[in-house]
Amino acid sequence: MIQSTFTYDVLVIGAGGAGLRAAIEAAASGVTVGLICKSLLGKAHTVMAEGGMAAAMANNDDRDSWRVHFADTMRGGQYINNWRMAELHAKEAPDRVRELEGWGAVFDRTPDGRINQRNFGGHRYPRLAHVGDRTGLELIRTLQDHAVYLGMNVHMEHTVVELLLDDGRAAGVLAYDRERGRFHVFSAKAVVLATGGVGRAYKITSNSWEGTGDGHALAYRAGAEMIDMEFIQFHPTGMVWPPSVRGILVTEGVRGEGGVLKNNQGRRFMFDDIPDNYKPQTASDPEEGWRYTQGDKNARRPPELLTRDHVARCIVREVREGRGSPHGGVFLDIAWIKEKLPNAEEHIKRKLPSMYHQFKELADLDITKEPMEIGPTTHYVMGGIRVDADSQMSSIPGLFAAGECASGINGANRLGGNSLSDLIVFGKRAGEYAAQWARQHSAARVDEGLVDRAMRNSLSPFDRGDSGENPYRVQSDLQETMQDLVGIVRNESDMQEALRRIWQFKERSNRVGVSGHREYHAGWHTALDVRNLLDISECIARSAIERKESRGGHFREDYPDKAAELSTVNVMTKRGPDGTLQVSRVPIPAIPDYLKEVIEEQKS
Ligand SMILES: Cc1cc2nc3c(=O)[nH]c(=O)nc-3n(C[C@H](O)[C@H](O)[C@H](O)COP(=O)(O)OP(=O)(O)OC[C@H]3O[C@@H](n4cnc5c(N)ncnc54)[C@H](O)[C@@H]3O)c2cc1C
Repeated sequence: MIQSTFTYDVLVIGAGGAGLRAAIEAAASGVTVGLICKSLLGKAHTVMAEGGMAAAMANNDDRDSWRVHFADTMRGGQYINNWRMAELHAKEAPDRVRELEGWGAVFDRTPDGRINQRNFGGHRYPRLAHVGDRTGLELIRTLQDHAVYLGMNVHMEHTVVELLLDDGRAAGVLAYDRERGRFHVFSAKAVVLATGGVGRAYKITSNSWEGTGDGHALAYRAGAEMIDMEFIQFHPTGMVWPPSVRGILVTEGVRGEGGVLKNNQGRRFMFDDIPDNYKPQTASDPEEGWRYTQGDKNARRPPELLTRDHVARCIVREVREGRGSPHGGVFLDIAWIKEKLPNAEEHIKRKLPSMYHQFKELADLDITKEPMEIGPTTHYVMGGIRVDADSQMSSIPGLFAAGECASGINGANRLGGNSLSDLIVFGKRAGEYAAQWARQHSAARVDEGLVDRAMRNSLSPFDRGDSGENPYRVQSDLQETMQDLVGIVRNESDMQEALRRIWQFKERSNRVGVSGHREYHAGWHTALDVRNLLDISECIARSAIERKESRGGHFREDYPDKAAELSTVNVMTKRGPDGTLQVSRVPIPAIPDYLKEVIEEQKS
């Protein structure tokens, strides 16, 4: 039974950086806005972001500009990015950051009082506006305050289970409140998905519990086009010990502040493998790398700040070849900077306060004195809902997507810091165009039959009760499979095996059962999450099988090189009319000459 019905012009699903920024823009334009999120307002995954947001404000190095940021993003994405999104992002991020400052965000400062910017992997110049290593918290706090000030209805602790369409157009959603387990219908002229990532499809991940790919799966099941799902970012530095904290992120800011990677022989192995296209920009020795981290404009960045895909693979190589740390990672050492700075301990605690506390409390280790043990962790999905670059509308009319659940800007690999700026640039655009769409269209019709079917389907685990499959078991079997068979290093036979298992897990997920009442029922929530994780995992595996080459976050040991014919296409997954997944290659539109010139000019 439906508990209540709400009607809005624009409905935003997700209250992370992208959702809040979209909701703000729509509300500011005068339309009615509803915001739905799974957790409490202010607790979305974005709050965990640490290092900063990339924007070419040139505060710390006046050689920076949108042109350099654009070229860095395209190089990082190995040139299969949506170039228009990369262009808009590089041009608009500085204004979006300054706007946050105007709304009250308290960024770290340069000595002359400007927003301070730090180094991060793949960014040529110091570019990340930050608040210590708690940038996400400040971003969310600022956006949340501004959203509340503008006025909108927030439906917290509600989970959307179905996207409702009217004759192919977005019409609203069906959601249940997690507290009581009752269903609510939300009708809207435009719907914005801003549901974040999919990290929970893997066993080792930095993602919060919310990262179950719900928006990806809702859009996929509704028939939206998905692209680049093969590109998963494995962040090189997650905690590896103790086991209970495995996967928790160790920010790239540690390396930006001078932290170095060493194997069990004490060797800085990153100097052994620098890709040709990054050689001109990479330090030739440790001394030059150190000077770079301290702001010397004549120095080049250390190899620890190469792109994440490359650093993660180098770590895997060290571990596989027996040069790893005792618990299967390598060492990340920031304590060594005491050789360079007299006040190193204080400096580390001031620059990396969360990292200091994280290791002290979770691993009983003082990072100002000892190296950390780290290893790769599933961090970010480059793939997602295919959107129009300017408006963020998906292939479903009236359905928009922004943030991590949308795709295009990052291509084969995201540069650190480009997500938070993506959220505010494209969150704003999604909100603006969703409001415009809502003003131009009449209300869509909610199909009661579809609502009834979706409710029955969602409640079906209760029909099977304790005699059904355990949803946690299906989830953990899936996570093991994705980790082992569709992880950092992939090959055809492993991925075919993964696919076979995913289909079996799908059958098992149709048989999952839960018992008891619906209030805060974690087992039931998991039973519903698993369906999303399974659909998304199938998209990942099928796309990864289709891309028979290695590029960015997708590394295949059976095809270790890039393939020319795949350098101009995105792999698209879409649900066919018969309900099965269809894979195809879609050509990337030719890049215009003025952007080609920017890429060429920045190659040296
Ligand atoms: C530890 C960590 C540190 C990071 N640091 C940085 C950094 O320094 N710089 C950077 O650029 N990037 C960083 N990232 C990446 C970045 O934080 C994320 O990509 C980004 O925050 C995603 O934001 P989002 O708005 O797309 O989604 P999220 O912040 O993930 O928010 C998703 C929202 O959708 C809601 N939702 C999901 N499913 C449903 C559903 N079914 N029904 C209703 N609501 C739903 C959730 O409740 C939540 O409110 C980091 C990531 C991690 C894990």
